[in-house]
Order: sequence, then structure tokens, then C-alpha cells
Amino acid sequence: MQCNKESRVISEYSGQLRSLLLFGPPGSGKGTLGKFLSSAGNHFHLSSGDIFRGLSPESPAGKLYHLYAGRGLLVPDEVTVEIWRHYVHGLMATNRYFPERQLLLLDGIPRTVCQARLLEAHICVERLIVLEVPKPAILLERLRRRALIEKRHDDMDEGILRARMEVYQQETTPLLSHYPSALISRFDATQTPLEVLRDVLKELCPLLT
Ligand code: ADP
Repeated sequence: MQCNKESRVISEYSGQLRSLLLFGPPGSGKGTLGKFLSSAGNHFHLSSGDIFRGLSPESPAGKLYHLYAGRGLLVPDEVTVEIWRHYVHGLMATNRYFPERQLLLLDGIPRTVCQARLLEAHICVERLIVLEVPKPAILLERLRRRALIEKRHDDMDEGILRARMEVYQQETTPLLSHYPSALISRFDATQTPLEVLRDVLKELCPLLT
């Protein structure tokens, strides 16, 4: 059989992906900020929660996700990074994300020190944006509203919400000390989305433009 020779259409990128990490408890506005920055700045916003929710519920990975997310727990680290890696490769191979000219805005990953270590081979972290909302009551209120709008199962159950907040405190906040403090920028995320965006742009404009 003769094959058509036009085979160099798949982009390959072997370097580390320039990344900006979005940190914050559930409901702090990581997704909203990620969407603003990606659409206005032509960066690539990638949410690990969105990747997981897009998995077919019948697939082995999808079943595993539902098992953990349904209890407000994190999916095990190695599987998480493996799924993420395949997904990112797919984005590059299909010309949806261009690492040579786009920053990767990572929302929700890494969430543990182990994930951060596993990702080190693939990404170069240029900055961390930490969205701070010190009062759990504000977060719970936002998540209840999101549950109605987006019909997310894990936002509808108060017990699951509280478990996710606890996991953020116990497993994700210690991860911040894994990075040099000079890379960390903290923002008051109790403000409106536009006010948060304004503060982020004021501080990080040189990196984002
Ligand atoms: P939120 O930030 O509001 O908790 P996400 O949409 O980021 O919500 O995540 C939803 C669920 O997906 C999490 O509760 C967890 O089960 C799973 N998940 C997302 N990202 C990760 C990750 N980096 N590691 C492990 N599990 C994750």
C-alpha cells in the first residue's frame, strides 16, 4: 500500500512549557480570572477540573475521577499528571495551544507537592497567582450560586464542598512553600472579578503582555 507523504502536520515541542499557576480555594475565582487572561492576552487557560469533567464517565479515568471527586477528594497524583500530560500533548498536536508564543495558565494543577515534582519535567513556572478569600462563608455562597448555574454535582452538596475546602487547606496550601517566595503574588479575591483582574494586570503586566 502506498502512503501519502504529507506527514509533518503534527506540532512537536520538546521544551518546558512556560507556565503561570493559578492558586486559590474552590470558589476563589481561578476559572474566571483564567478566562479573562486567556481571552484578552491570548494565553492558554487550562483547568484540571475541566479536563476531568470532560472525561467519559465510562472510561477508566472517568470512573476514577467520579470516585474521588464525588467525595471531594483529589484524584491520585500520578494518574492526574498522566491525564494532564496526554491532554496537553493533544492540544499541541492539534494546533490549539502554541507553547512557543502562549503562556500556559494552569488552574487547579499542581495541587500537591508530589504533582509539582512530577510536573517539573514538563513546565517552567514563571509566576504563581494566589487568590485569597479568607472567609469560608464567602466561598460557600459563591459555590452554591455556581451549583445552580453550572449544575455541578460536586458544588451542590455542602459536605463535598467543605471536604474540598479542607483538602485545599491541608494538601494544597503547603505546596506554596515549595516555590521561591519571589515568584508568588497574592491578591484579594473577595473583590469583584474586574477588580481582581485590575490588580493582577497592575502587578503582572510585563509578564502577561
Ligand atoms: P475546585 O477548584 O472548585 O475544587 P476543580 O474543578 O478544580 O474544582 O476540581 C474538581 C475536582 O476535580 C476536584 O475536587 C478533584 O477531585 C479533581 N481534581 C481537579 N484537579 C485536580 C488535581 N490537580 N489533582 C487531583 N484532583 C484534581
